[in-house]
Amino acid sequence: MNEITKIDVAIIGGGIAGLMVGYEITRQFPHLNTFVFEKGNFLGDHTTGRNSGVLHSGLYYAKNSLKHRLCLEGNTLWEKLGRELNVTVRRCGKFIFCSKSHEQEKLDQLKNQAMENSIDGVRWATDSEKNKLKAFADVNSAIFVPTAGLIDVPMAVSSLERAILNNGGNILRNNFISKVSKHEQGFLLETRDGPILTRALVNNGGLWSVSFGQQLWPNGLEDYFVKGNYLKYSGDFYRESFIYPCPLPHLKGLGVHSTFDVAGAIKFGPNTEDVSEIDYGIDIQSLEEMKTEIARCYPSVVMDKLAPDYCGIRSKIKLNGHLYPDFWIKGQKETNLSNYVEICGYESPGLTASPAMAKFVVNLLEL
Ligand SMILES: Cc1cc2nc3c(=O)[nH]c(=O)nc-3n(C[C@H](O)[C@H](O)[C@H](O)COP(=O)(O)OP(=O)(O)OC[C@H]3O[C@@H](n4cnc5c(N)ncnc54)[C@H](O)[C@@H]3O)c2cc1C
Repeated sequence: MNEITKIDVAIIGGGIAGLMVGYEITRQFPHLNTFVFEKGNFLGDHTTGRNSGVLHSGLYYAKNSLKHRLCLEGNTLWEKLGRELNVTVRRCGKFIFCSKSHEQEKLDQLKNQAMENSIDGVRWATDSEKNKLKAFADVNSAIFVPTAGLIDVPMAVSSLERAILNNGGNILRNNFISKVSKHEQGFLLETRDGPILTRALVNNGGLWSVSFGQQLWPNGLEDYFVKGNYLKYSGDFYRESFIYPCPLPHLKGLGVHSTFDVAGAIKFGPNTEDVSEIDYGIDIQSLEEMKTEIARCYPSVVMDKLAPDYCGIRSKIKLNGHLYPDFWIKGQKETNLSNYVEICGYESPGLTASPAMAKFVVNLLEL
């Protein structure tokens, strides 16, 4: 029979969420025996490596929701973290525009929400900014959000990995936790290398966290996956700030926006496509629909210069059959399980929120 290995903390998932929690725990508690388990060969290979890489401001979310609070705090923390871990975090800002006068009301609402949500510096675009934007997008009116920006995600993943190891933590790739059960001293994990008993457990399993958690308690959740596809663009485009359309009520996402990465490569997306499986294939029909939307919002775009890029899957969740609008971060109070924290529905702005989420999670544990 296999000997049981005992550890202090197990974190499920080597995406940005699990790595950030691993970093925070090993930073605050370097004496603990902390392990991050990743089932794949690479860290950050799922949603973390398949997003827009945008440092969000916290503008869109219901006031005082976890999405709002953790995004706002995470936005500030990333700047400090970027300096500490040598990760590029650049506040290029973003414009949110409306094309038609009947969309103006929605833009007015967003501007008011920015004040409600304490987002610094949001203002109407000047005439000269609007004239510049009009060369690229069908802009009638626009607001500028200066605290939005970009994060070099691959650099963040490798810097966090290095920091966790330097702090004395452990990262086990290619190590699928196939089963978890409650044990009188914590939680028993079935791993490639035999059973492991951990005192504390953090479920940052991304698209797999709902089903993982259901092995421990009936969380009542259901996965609701929504794919987002991207098109890369090789033509000329505005590269000073991101450009977003005004999010209209019928959209499940923020609308097809233009962003760029640290190297200045332009991409459009993500669109929204309901899916039932985790499959990163790109549906060409869905790209054609996105092209129609791009032609409407960004008339300067030359269609021949758009090419399929990649896609990511939003880990939305439903509770009792209804879309759950916030991050689901539950500790002992809700789960009745001491030293277990469950993170589900960790969709956008999860990248931005991750440094604040990690602190929030650590406060729910007794380490
Ligand atoms: C299209 C799209 C665009 C987005 N754009 C932005 C943006 O611009 N800005 C922003 O702030 N947020 C954005 N987000 C959200 C952000 O990408 C996510 O919130 C974040 O990446 C989630 O990270 P994660 O670590 O929870 O998940 P993941 O990166 O998916 O990591 C989870 C990991 O857990 C591992 N795992 C699961 N189960 C097990 C197990 N049993 N054993 C071992 N390992 C396991 C998986 O292999 C995976 O690597 C976007 C999301 C999408 C889909």
